[in-house]
Amino acid sequence: MKKRISVLKASIQQGQKIDRKIADQVAASMKAWAMSKGATHYTHWFQPLTGTTAEKHDSFFTPSGPAAGIEVFSGGALVQQEPDASSFPSGGIRSTFEARGYTAWDPSSPAFIMELGSGSTLCIPTIFVSYTGEALDYKAPLLKSLHLLDEAAVPVCQYFDKNVTRVTATLGWEQEYFVVDEALFLNRPDLSICGRTLIGHYPAKGQQLEDHYFGTIPERIFNYMVDFEMECHKLGIPLRTRHNEVAPGQFECAPMFEEASIAVDHNCLLMDVMEKVARHHKLRVLFHEKPFAGVNGSGKHNNWSMGTDTGKNLLSPGKTPRTNLQFLTFFINTIKAVHDNADLLRASIASANNDHRLGANEAPPAIISAFIGTALRSVLNEIENRVDAKTFDDLDKADLRLDIHNKIPDLLLDNTDRNRTSPFAFTGNKFEFRAVGSSANCSKAMTTVNTIVAAQLKAFREEVDGLIKGGENKDNAILKVLTRYIGESKNILFEGDNYSEEWAKEATENRGLNNVKTTPEAIDFYATERAKNIFVKNHILSERELHARMEIEFEEYAKKIQIEARIYGELVYNYVLPAAVEYQNALLDNVMKLKAVGLNEAHYKEQIDLATNITLHLNHLRAALERMVEERKRANRIEHAREKAFAYCNNVKTLFDEIREHADMLERYLPDTKWPLAKYRELLFVK
Ligand code: ADP
Ligand code: MG
Repeated sequence: MKKRISVLKASIQQGQKIDRKIADQVAASMKAWAMSKGATHYTHWFQPLTGTTAEKHDSFFTPSGPAAGIEVFSGGALVQQEPDASSFPSGGIRSTFEARGYTAWDPSSPAFIMELGSGSTLCIPTIFVSYTGEALDYKAPLLKSLHLLDEAAVPVCQYFDKNVTRVTATLGWEQEYFVVDEALFLNRPDLSICGRTLIGHYPAKGQQLEDHYFGTIPERIFNYMVDFEMECHKLGIPLRTRHNEVAPGQFECAPMFEEASIAVDHNCLLMDVMEKVARHHKLRVLFHEKPFAGVNGSGKHNNWSMGTDTGKNLLSPGKTPRTNLQFLTFFINTIKAVHDNADLLRASIASANNDHRLGANEAPPAIISAFIGTALRSVLNEIENRVDAKTFDDLDKADLRLDIHNKIPDLLLDNTDRNRTSPFAFTGNKFEFRAVGSSANCSKAMTTVNTIVAAQLKAFREEVDGLIKGGENKDNAILKVLTRYIGESKNILFEGDNYSEEWAKEATENRGLNNVKTTPEAIDFYATERAKNIFVKNHILSERELHARMEIEFEEYAKKIQIEARIYGELVYNYVLPAAVEYQNALLDNVMKLKAVGLNEAHYKEQIDLATNITLHLNHLRAALERMVEERKRANRIEHAREKAFAYCNNVKTLFDEIREHADMLERYLPDTKWPLAKYRELLFVK
């Protein structure tokens, strides 16, 4: 394809508009290429706000008369399609009379051929917008944020290197997932409908022996990995790493990093491929953030950096004073952006699933902080202490620069001691946003990171240019502003254990950082002035789009909890309760028979005890469930999306644990043969 459509390359590399006439040429080449690979259909492939990917296939074959037809794929069909938008979340943007939506070709992401069973389809990555032009997907704002970052970062780069004309964000994700046997998966309505177990007693052996991480991969899983990696490589996804994760049944894969928008597409594709290939192996893959209570959940670390068209990683500490200052500029601006916009970062990773993970003492907490390591911390301290604004001009600058210069090579060594508990950790040449959920589309987090850093770089440049205009020399001006930023943002820096209670206390009480534990509260951050300043002023989302996204997220949250609540009902009434009653009956039958042959109470005391215990748990179980159902009904009557989400969060979800507790006790008491659901012990240890 590269050969056939070289005409595109220049436009993409320079980020220029593509002439409509060229589209016809590209379409013809794409069709020829796709058909040579056996494709019969094409589809616009997009990422609606449902969190999955969407496609609608059309055939190349177009009848042109009786017994005649040819394969057609015009520039028009490549560039734009009109899927009905009415079945996708729009947060009130779409009214029924303008249900149309448009998908529009994203030439910056390569088209690909998806093979499924006996058919092949040409897939064209697109953005998805409403009839009135509002974005209805994750991709459009991501592309805008990348453009903004480019615009903001290039002039800053040019303080140091005039040759830089383009900056892109780079993303290397690490995908964690669980794998379970298909038959066991299908046995569990909670797993198959909600993606997580709603009940289930913790097994005798979980992850306490710490024997799974980096252990040998079971052969059945290994075969699955090899198979999906092969499919991924065919699609151009540069997967490189595979290993076990901390929990039993949990694994991870990671690619070589790519330009952020392509990396996002590839992650979506990966999840899709992994789902499909798992079925060939009679396995199911779980991307849910917390499929099992009591063992670790799954995340998707987003390794993020910025790269120039001259091949430089802007977050890689340089070897010379000049490149060091450039590194420090981008590094400190990123920290300042994180400090000023921690709430927006928190919002960008919020989901009903991820609530189980953040703050559960196994994953980064809901408090946003950044880890930079002791070496860089001391560099920042040094700059801050020695270069205060007053004495700056008297300072021996050469000395200072030398100092920074001498420290930075040590960095790489020092950073091998990584902090695994930080939500946003510097890892030597990139930041790792570790709080992103495993099922999330990376776009949401990446759009936010790109945008806040871009906005910050713009502000930085204005300040520095102002100082230069006032007669300051360039390096002085840069250091002066950076020095102030260090002081202003250092309370976001934390090197200790993020899982500890002391940190939660220190962060909220002494540092004034937010610890927002639930999704509805996090979504509320999108309603703040800051959110408007960041997203609306920078044209990433219009006010209407921002509002729509909030609505969609509130709705999605309520729906997710609602579904879980219903499945609780099903599990209790259709599985747990009948099984418990059946066993109780068997016990009582036994008691009656023992009595009938003339034995006394000493012979059936245990049976009576057990039967009574079962009644006790059944009573509690039903009571909790019925209370939950009442709350659910109450929540359902609420029209307003935000209030409904809060009701589900504060009144419905809070009763889940109680239901679970009693269901899990019953699982403990019932005979294995009578328990109708696959147990953790079976689900977690795939052999
Ligand atoms: P970890 O040690 O955190 O488990 P690795 O070091 O194996 O993970 O890899 C982390 C990811 O970071 C990989 O996908 C890698 O390609 C990515 N990465 C490396 N350099 C960059 C960069 N400059 N920008 C973005 N991602 C990067
Ligand atoms: Mg990592």
